[in-house]
Amino acid sequence: MKIIMLGAPGAGKGTQAKQIAAKYNIPHISTGDIFRANIKNGTELGKKAKEYMDQGLLVPDELTCDLVMDRIAQDDAKNGFVLDGFPRTIPQAEALTAALTKIGQSMDFAIDVDVPDENIIGRMSGRRACLKCGATYHIVSIPPKQEGICDTCGSELVLRDDDQPDTVKKRLDVYHAQTQPLIEYYSKQGILKSVSGTQPMETVFANIVEILGE
Ligand code: AMP
Repeated sequence: MKIIMLGAPGAGKGTQAKQIAAKYNIPHISTGDIFRANIKNGTELGKKAKEYMDQGLLVPDELTCDLVMDRIAQDDAKNGFVLDGFPRTIPQAEALTAALTKIGQSMDFAIDVDVPDENIIGRMSGRRACLKCGATYHIVSIPPKQEGICDTCGSELVLRDDDQPDTVKKRLDVYHAQTQPLIEYYSKQGILKSVSGTQPMETVFANIVEILGE
């Protein structure tokens, strides 16, 4: 099963994507996580990506597309994958469609996790991330067992630079301008499904499972 998660930053698509990956036994491919790992390891890609990410801007398509195409060509992705944070622009979506068409494949579902803008800013200021293992928390809805400490690896949790309120506003503008058009793109492909992201996380996941099947 090949799934794309759509939705504004902070809509909860990452949390849902991780659960989908676990339930359907497919890899969770998050471009944000890949960029953050590169930043942490001080790679050239990481240095370039950071300049854009810190400003709330998208990393250019030419740095993003090849990386995803290489990842989905790996062995563990041959039975499907869930893409989280990619595509984020029409050219990225077109590159993905073209790469899959070449090998006689196509995406199965694009799931839009819909949350109004007014809910997003509050949500993101409560987000906490572990920069070591990539786990994410929320001080209200998904608190770690011990405040400020990652349940999984014991590292310190932080508010990501790009989750700071001013950057969040910028990211929302970028979302509306560049990513929201993908809703129409996948609607035209006939694979768009929408779920309301303002419900409790478990309900959102149950709605998604209804769409994907048990
Ligand atoms: P995320 O963790 O998905 O919210 O991504 C964090 C940041 O990484 C975004 O605000 C962008 O700067 C960058 N990023 C992640 N995925 C993409 C993508 N598909 N295209 C361009 N930039 C991306």
